[in-house]
Amino acid sequence: PHSILSCFVCRRVLFGGIFMGKADRELQTCPYVAKCGACHIGEKSYEEELAEKKAQVVTHIGKYCGKINDVAGMYYPYHYRNKVHAVFGRIKDEVVAGTYEEGTHTIIPVSDCLIEDTQASAIIRTVAGLIQSFRLWVYNEDTGRGLMRHILVRKGASTKQIMVVLVTASPEFPHKNNFVAELRRMHPEITTIVQNINDRQTTMVLGEREKILFGQGYIEDVLMGLRFRISPSSFYQVNSAQTQVLYKRAIQAAGLTGKERVIDAYCGIGTIGMCMSAKAAHVTGIELNAQAVKDAKANAKRNHINNIHFIAADATEYMTRMSQNGEKADVIVMDPPRSGSTEAFVKAAASLKPSRIVYVSCNPETLGRDLAWFGREGYRAQEAFPVDMFGFTEHIETVVGLHRKDM
Ligand code: SAH
Repeated sequence: PHSILSCFVCRRVLFGGIFMGKADRELQTCPYVAKCGACHIGEKSYEEELAEKKAQVVTHIGKYCGKINDVAGMYYPYHYRNKVHAVFGRIKDEVVAGTYEEGTHTIIPVSDCLIEDTQASAIIRTVAGLIQSFRLWVYNEDTGRGLMRHILVRKGASTKQIMVVLVTASPEFPHKNNFVAELRRMHPEITTIVQNINDRQTTMVLGEREKILFGQGYIEDVLMGLRFRISPSSFYQVNSAQTQVLYKRAIQAAGLTGKERVIDAYCGIGTIGMCMSAKAAHVTGIELNAQAVKDAKANAKRNHINNIHFIAADATEYMTRMSQNGEKADVIVMDPPRSGSTEAFVKAAASLKPSRIVYVSCNPETLGRDLAWFGREGYRAQEAFPVDMFGFTEHIETVVGLHRKDM
């Protein structure tokens, strides 16, 4: 329904971008966009968006960074999200899955999102239908009553493994075995199903308790030729194709020769550090989420990488300890969350005297603030490479290479 020339099977635009040209890329429109608020698809062309994103990066880091490249855009900017989340609700007598209208508890049913993985969307529709036919209670945010809260679907873009996480308000899940059997029968492509229990009245999707209902409890994906295990609560970049573009830039900016001691701060399941390990003497990954650190350790083993180790700690605290112990590093890679890093981290990082720092940022605003701190510590940003990981949203990812001014 979204464009003139679309495939009968997957409904994607044929030849996305190559033969159809710019105008045709604009044809896709979304019926939910006005209320959903997660993206602004249909408002402007993808090309215009990339230009605006570059301008945004220039605004925030232009005065600290010598050269800012054009944004590396996606080849096909639709259905790129490998992680899809929906909340369950009830509209009249019907169970629906979707998103809350911004700032409210009013549910907007979304059944076919243009930026999310299509297989994930189909599974979510099925689960909403199963909740209805098994007569399970849907959780109500206002009263705190009911059972079924959220669904999270994650797909390994290259392995095609699919994980379904059903978030419930209590551990009791009536008809659980039949529910799982029916879901697997309708979607044999699912490789693991996990129940996550979140009994708190919070905006956080996942709670701390988990039960594996089917399969291994995690999926695997292949990125840059390495195989990674991803657990439900571990961070994994949502756009796999662009992640490789991003990581290649980060590896390039690190300028490794095989002799360097590298720190991968905010490392998640260890992806960046492991992709750099073949060209480094040793890598230390630092990550706060204990589950992600477990994944990272398993991933190193799985890929037979012996020159990497992982520390479960707050990055600022651990870096400060390294600095107090007089330790040194040659290259520091850092990839903090949207809130950015801390001044104490920046001071500690500088005192380890790395010749290069690679900053991977998902928020140009905090990136600018942190680059100013690095400037005071003697590190200059030389070149920035913005990469679009989140088409049709406000978000933009940037890799910045910094060098010590006296080198
Ligand atoms: N580099 C990884 C993960 C980046 S996302 C990748 O490319 O996949 C940011 C990561 O920082 C998340 O895994 C999050 O759990 C972690 N994190 C958040 N706050 C942290 C802190 N204070 N110290 C260490 N890690 C932190």
